Amino acid sequence: MKIACVGGGPASLYFSILMKRVDPSHVITVHERNPAGSTYGWGVTYWGELLNDLHGADPESACTIEKNSVHWDRWEVHVHDRTTVATEDWGEGFGIGRHQLLDILTERARSLGVHIEFEHEITDRGELADADLVVAGDGVNSLLRERHTDHFGSEVTVGRNVYVWLGTTKVFRSFTFTFVETAHGWIWCYGYGFSKDHSTCVIECSPTTWKGLGLHQANRADGLALLEKLFADALDGHPLITQAHTEDGTHWLNFRTLTNRTWYHDNLVLLGDAAHTTHYSIGAGTALALGDAAFLVNALHGETELQTALARYDRERQAVIRLSLRAARYSARWYESLPRYVGLPPEQLIALLGQRHSPLLPHVPPRLYYRLGQAAEQFRSLRNRGRRPDPGPHGPNTPGQSDEMITR
Ligand SMILES: Cc1cc2nc3c(=O)[nH]c(=O)nc-3n(C[C@H](O)[C@H](O)[C@H](O)COP(=O)(O)OP(=O)(O)OC[C@H]3O[C@@H](n4cnc5c(N)ncnc54)[C@H](O)[C@@H]3O)c2cc1C
Repeated sequence: MKIACVGGGPASLYFSILMKRVDPSHVITVHERNPAGSTYGWGVTYWGELLNDLHGADPESACTIEKNSVHWDRWEVHVHDRTTVATEDWGEGFGIGRHQLLDILTERARSLGVHIEFEHEITDRGELADADLVVAGDGVNSLLRERHTDHFGSEVTVGRNVYVWLGTTKVFRSFTFTFVETAHGWIWCYGYGFSKDHSTCVIECSPTTWKGLGLHQANRADGLALLEKLFADALDGHPLITQAHTEDGTHWLNFRTLTNRTWYHDNLVLLGDAAHTTHYSIGAGTALALGDAAFLVNALHGETELQTALARYDRERQAVIRLSLRAARYSARWYESLPRYVGLPPEQLIALLGQRHSPLLPHVPPRLYYRLGQAAEQFRSLRNRGRRPDPGPHGPNTPGQSDEMITR
């Protein structure tokens, strides 16, 4: 098969690796508009489950990814001068520089015979007319997808809060949430390490706080200086770093949640962020992009007809990730409703932070939700000890306890 992949992000690169592993006779070219070694963003998180999947799919790249990742098993929440550590088992998390991850995947793809053309922007699908399959791994603003918006049924929801993706030389040993109250409302940061000398800081706030603090019109130096002051305790005197090379401000954005009704059109198929985005607060976009790649490869090698394979990928993969997409929407909404939760006692705040993916939480008063969760927990531990307690007025099935848990 002759395959053209547009975009040299995790989705396309991993797809090309797995395709070549299954059948080295495929001729695959990845077209990336940026020069080699340049990318956006800082570190990305992932969870143990992904690592297991990567080891199963391509042990060579999985070992290198694991070797170049940092990991943590502690989660801290800072509000005012209080620090709370999650006592629930939120599991182990991993972080790797996006830059590093792309280098690893690029090298592995090349070693398997994939052609990678950097500084080659695809502006027209006609350029790829001789390909049997065109893979659109060109990210959330996919040009190839936008040419067929009606066919794909693309829908974009723009998040209310604004965020900026920054780096710092402060090395966070725990995944650290810091909530800071200002005269204009709350602003918060998710900090996590991704190398031995750098961490990511994603900073988020409501538009009212953003404008009230003057961040919407601050130039780059002033904007960073203000954020460093607000998060001085968390940063321990370390600077925040931006990738923006201009002086006209830090790069604040509203998160765009993209969905598509269908993920293929003729021989064009959407992969990763080009097909769907998941709010960064669940730390799953890269993992989902890699999972899409594995799913597509399985479908292509499990079916003899291209259209049947693409239809299978579309149907089955959409079903598999539905819960993650829903979790991401509720997580984004939790942060948009932060004032509802941030004044709770620390143990309640951290418990509900861990439950932020719950579709029920927005509809139940937070303190009541917390108490119901506690009661359900007690019921469960008593039941596990083989006793039959009185389930009380709420019964055992209290909200949130059966929700899929994705922690970040
Ligand atoms: C603030 C923030 C934090 C995040 N944190 C995490 C995290 O902790 N964990 C996690 O799993 N995910 C995280 N994500 C999500 C993650 O970055 C994306 O889901 C992931 O990068 C998607 O991979 P992709 O390959 O589909 O697209 P991308 O990584 O966006 O790659 C697309 C590539 O296509 C190239 N391209 C675009 N158009 C063209 C063209 N016409 N021709 C040639 N090349 C083109 C682009 O230059 C780019 O290199 C975060 C996202 C944000 C915004």
